[in-house]
Amino acid sequence: MPAKAAEREEAEKKAVRNSYAGLLRAAKKRSKTDTKLIRKAFDVALEAHKEMRRKSGEPYIFHPIAVARICADEINLGTTSIVAALLHDTVEDTNLTLDDIQSMFGKKVAKIIDGLTKISEVIDHTNSIQAENFRKVLVTMSEDVRVILIKLADRLHNMRTLESMRRDKQLKIASETLFLYAPLAHRLGLYNIKTELEDLSLKYSEPEIYAEIESKLKKTSDVRTRFIRSFSSPIRRNLDLAGIKYSIQGRPKSIFSIYTKMKNKNVPFEEIYDLFAIRIVTRSRPEREKADCWQVYSIVTDFYQPNPDRLRDWISTPKGNGYESLHTTVMSPSGKWVEVQIRSNRMDEIAEKGYAAHWKYKGDNSESAYDDWLNRIRDYLQDPAGSALEFVDDFKLNLFSDEIFVFTPQGDLRNLPQGASALDFAFEIHTQVGAHCIGAKVNHKLVPLSYQLKSGDQVEIITSSKQKPKEDWLKFVVTAKARSKIKSSLKDQKRTIAENGKQMLEKKLKSLKYRSSSYNLKEIIKHYKVTSELDLYYMIALDRFDLNELKEFDYKNGKLEAPSATQVQIDDSEALQEMLQIRKKGDDTVVIGEEMEKFDYTLSPCCNPIPGDEVFGFITINDGIKIHKTNCPNAMQLMSNYAYRIVKARWMGQESIAFLSGIKITGIDDVGIVNAITKIISQELHVNMKSIKFESHDGIFEGQIMVFVHDTKHLKQLSEKLRKIDGVINVARIDSTSE
Ligand code: MN
Repeated sequence: MPAKAAEREEAEKKAVRNSYAGLLRAAKKRSKTDTKLIRKAFDVALEAHKEMRRKSGEPYIFHPIAVARICADEINLGTTSIVAALLHDTVEDTNLTLDDIQSMFGKKVAKIIDGLTKISEVIDHTNSIQAENFRKVLVTMSEDVRVILIKLADRLHNMRTLESMRRDKQLKIASETLFLYAPLAHRLGLYNIKTELEDLSLKYSEPEIYAEIESKLKKTSDVRTRFIRSFSSPIRRNLDLAGIKYSIQGRPKSIFSIYTKMKNKNVPFEEIYDLFAIRIVTRSRPEREKADCWQVYSIVTDFYQPNPDRLRDWISTPKGNGYESLHTTVMSPSGKWVEVQIRSNRMDEIAEKGYAAHWKYKGDNSESAYDDWLNRIRDYLQDPAGSALEFVDDFKLNLFSDEIFVFTPQGDLRNLPQGASALDFAFEIHTQVGAHCIGAKVNHKLVPLSYQLKSGDQVEIITSSKQKPKEDWLKFVVTAKARSKIKSSLKDQKRTIAENGKQMLEKKLKSLKYRSSSYNLKEIIKHYKVTSELDLYYMIALDRFDLNELKEFDYKNGKLEAPSATQVQIDDSEALQEMLQIRKKGDDTVVIGEEMEKFDYTLSPCCNPIPGDEVFGFITINDGIKIHKTNCPNAMQLMSNYAYRIVKARWMGQESIAFLSGIKITGIDDVGIVNAITKIISQELHVNMKSIKFESHDGIFEGQIMVFVHDTKHLKQLSEKLRKIDGVINVARIDSTSE
């Protein structure tokens, strides 16, 4: 081995040892057995990943070590999680199997790794962040909360090292992070991780804006520091006099939250005034925590006038994710409002590191707050009324909204999202209570179902066995649970009624001697301006349509017969709406090559998909559905920005049809090589060429050929033949030619 390489290898080994030692230091309070177990996991991971390197070029093992360290340091997780984090990529990326893991580390670790592997299969290895995928991910995650926490650590490290990824990967990962992982971290009370994920996402998705805010924050930091010092000095003096131990800091708001404010209020950076908050953390004995915090509050407001509307007491009633703190906004001498956060060091650690820190203080394994949350998710997942897309919307709604807390007549506390109505509360108690709810008593006063609850309300629900869920209920519920239960009940009611309408229509068509083909149905749907078959039947059953209009149908539209052309032109935005409706109903797979196709589709020229490729459909405004490969260069952008316009697509037997595809060939320039290539293509394999283009520079040629093939197998066969030609160095598929 050359001396340089040996030197480099030695340096790498040393760096790995150092990083492992750092992990061990971070794994606080471990027993001898724990240390042995962590060592074993490290050895197994090191061996399994020994040939692998990350995109940055460094040995792969640095990644699992870093993830395990985040688990220990930043989420306060224990040995099981550290072990699982060290091994998290082994089953997916190396020869190790789940059975190997189980026999070496036991069932618990194996189960966590299994969950992590499944999530990775769904999210990391498809280009799509579709609703169905999220459902799968959440089901897996909700089985063991450690799966979510380790996945968050994994994602955080990937975000921290995103620099070396390709641009499109960066965008995909950044958009997923903002869409799924940051809200999850928020919901779990991992405030620091949530903030860092958001900031990193912004850094890669909007690099210029990020850099601008970052530099402006830097430029104004001296002014802020001076302000904070003078603002705090009277508080410090009096806290010292009172004998309270504390630390006091100016906490800058995150770049992402400043950016969000600029965007929402449509103002420049200079007009965002609350760029920081003052945080006072007391070092209190457990029994003194609350009293100390209120004493600090009293001292602060001795000097600065508080805004009475802006006092938040999350100490007496912690937030659903475990957050405890006292927030107030006070007027500074310069006339600006300043937010002051007051909490004990225990509360501070929970606020930053989430519930795992909480367990540490409780000294037990009470995971009940997580469990409540996970139960709610599970509940929702098991009863998916409506499409997966609505599911994501509803779910996200719940993730982002803040919470209120209300009481049952027995005095039990329930958390609900902000804006929740009495009806939401009823569904929160029980599905049947919700479905039969006719009103409520809030603080002993009778109120309508739509009544918006406030924190502290005591709510009693009044039911009637005759009551049924109604359409307009959807206008005043905000919880995912209530929405999904109401929707599914409405759908059932509607289906029963629609069944009559269907029979009525069939009878009518028969008497008019029209076929009830799917084409005719579509025409009828268009005529009555409804959005789906179900709606059509439903309205007919309610007698809203005059079916006699169908008599005149044939001369008005001239085509109530099965059409000869199988494709229906989709050319206006009304049609787009219609497509989106079909999409919403979940009846959404484009089958490419199916006769009597219900969708109008074309294969997109940007990536030229052929049978065998993994594909999806994208609903365009004017061109019907475009089929793209899932790894099309445009796919990421389409999928993350227009998820609601994505439809599933699959291929169906079209052996007789040929599809256009591009091949790039490079090789050594040689007389006759073009001839050899074209001969193989057209004579030996009977493949038709659309175009051929060859260029050569300095003895190397590069050719682009557009050919018609049946599917990916056919294309592969062709590529293999071409590769065998003397002088050909590389044959690769290309998405489109630069014709
Ligand atoms: Mn990983």
